[in-house]
Amino acid sequence: PYVGPEYSKVQKIKKENLVPCILSYYKKPLLIHEGKMQWLFDHTGRRYLDMFGGIVTVSVGHCHPKVNEAAIQQMGQLWHTTNIYMHPKIHEYAEKLASKMPGDLKVFYFVNSGSEANDLALFMARAHSKNFDIISLRNGYHGMSPYVMGITALSTWKFNVPIGGGIQHTMNPDVYRGPWGGSKCRDSPIQTTRQCDCPAGACEASEKYYEQLQDVFRYSVPSGHVAGFIAESIQGVGGTVQFPKGYLKKAYEIVKSNGGVCIADEVQTGFGRTGEHFWGFEMHGVVPDIVTLAKGIGNGYPMAAVVTTPTIAQSLGSALHFNTFGGNPVASAVGKAVLEVIEEEKLQKNSEVVGTHLLLRLAQLRNEFAEIVGDVRGKGLMIGLELVADAQTRTPMSSTNFMDIWEDCKDMGLLVGRGGLNGNVMRIKPPMCITTEDADFTCEVIKKALENYLEKRRKNLS
Ligand code: PMP
Repeated sequence: PYVGPEYSKVQKIKKENLVPCILSYYKKPLLIHEGKMQWLFDHTGRRYLDMFGGIVTVSVGHCHPKVNEAAIQQMGQLWHTTNIYMHPKIHEYAEKLASKMPGDLKVFYFVNSGSEANDLALFMARAHSKNFDIISLRNGYHGMSPYVMGITALSTWKFNVPIGGGIQHTMNPDVYRGPWGGSKCRDSPIQTTRQCDCPAGACEASEKYYEQLQDVFRYSVPSGHVAGFIAESIQGVGGTVQFPKGYLKKAYEIVKSNGGVCIADEVQTGFGRTGEHFWGFEMHGVVPDIVTLAKGIGNGYPMAAVVTTPTIAQSLGSALHFNTFGGNPVASAVGKAVLEVIEEEKLQKNSEVVGTHLLLRLAQLRNEFAEIVGDVRGKGLMIGLELVADAQTRTPMSSTNFMDIWEDCKDMGLLVGRGGLNGNVMRIKPPMCITTEDADFTCEVIKKALENYLEKRRKNLS
């Protein structure tokens, strides 16, 4: 049973002792005190199905016994020395993680958070290319440090302070909100019923978005100035936005041909979540020069990594670079256990099977509630459901209405996330251990919440 302070006392402490700008979910935030695999329990003992996994972080299940065991065992032996000595755990882990990477991606720098990993990735790109300009996609999210706040291109996450310079943003290849259609051309098991402007077999939208990137080079980044290009494989915070097939491949080509390196931000899409592939970038048919990993890498344990090629790692030169906690023995033990669980429990396959089942059922909801469900998209267990006020104009659903539906889901025992520039996308990215029954429960709850919302709207109109 819960033994912490009373709910009202916790609220008071939160108000008085924690910074207010930290995002807080729900009008009456949950006081969570226990987690078991895909389930969370609040202070009253009520159980919730966690379809957001602590923002795509709990990859193999809350308090997974094998991961817990690895952490506890390591904690009893050695917590910390920094990496000034060798330690078997970090070396075993690096070797295992390298076996999951394609090409020459086999040199790691372990750090502690996604922002830190992206900071370091930009630093490596600049040091290697000896250039300064970084190109990122609008609507992308890459973290909150002042350096990477520059590449994050969502105004909701920008502060009016000096942030990383030398950043150019290109038009987001968003096939739902962008001007050129193309939603048939994204890599998803869902066939869209919405209008798509592309002729069969050729994605015109992809070409048009690519032209926008060419324009960035034409107007803003002169030949030989580019250090790198960074993109998520499916945008997470931006609302599970998928790009049309072929876009990323061409983007990588133009960046490389101009002397830049390509960075894949796999903080949300890595570790088998997208089902068909272990890494999200594989669905785009590209091999990056640098990959950043966080969140699911540690199933909730704070850790992250940058992986690159020996050549890029070498080009950092002879100056020293240091990180006190990165790759500590406990993190390394946890990271290795997470990889083993993904393999042993076939969680990548589970993401594909259960994710596809869930996507197809959500597509039925989209057809049934076409006036308010504008789009359903995603791959594996990286899913978004975009709610609209008007399906024709695709006007986003207002925050108040979205929150009604979202809160209703919570009251029925289902936790899902929220995202997108307009905050109107339901984000479903659960621990990868969920079952088909959990997927069905999710759909039933969302269906009921949409019905309740429409019923309320009808009553208000009459
Ligand atoms: N990249 C992506 C794609 C993310 O979603 C996030 C976090 N939401 C980050 C980077 C930053 O990670 P962190 O919060 O661990 O700094």
